Amino acid sequence: MRRRCHSQKKQLANSKQHSAKETEMNRETKIKWGPCCFCGKQIEDGEHDPCRVTVETSNSKWQVWFCHAHCFKLLIKDDLGLEPAHF
Ligand SMILES: [Zn+2]
Repeated sequence: MRRRCHSQKKQLANSKQHSAKETEMNRETKIKWGPCCFCGKQIEDGEHDPCRVTVETSNSKWQVWFCHAHCFKLLIKDDLGLEPAHF
């Protein structure tokens, strides 16, 4: 009976230690996206955000920016059937 009690305490201590470590890892790996290349504001994680806009030139040079799905949708011509398929 005593032994079980001791063992439970130990498990509890281990789980506390584990969750503290996880919190530390989450802080370290937290990625900030943005700013949005269209509006200049920070991008929070969302259903479609952050979006990446990739432009490749005719001589195969490319660059990537981050943007809000909403900002991209506002700027692209949708009357020509060019609207985004997924958002
Ligand atoms: Zn934006």
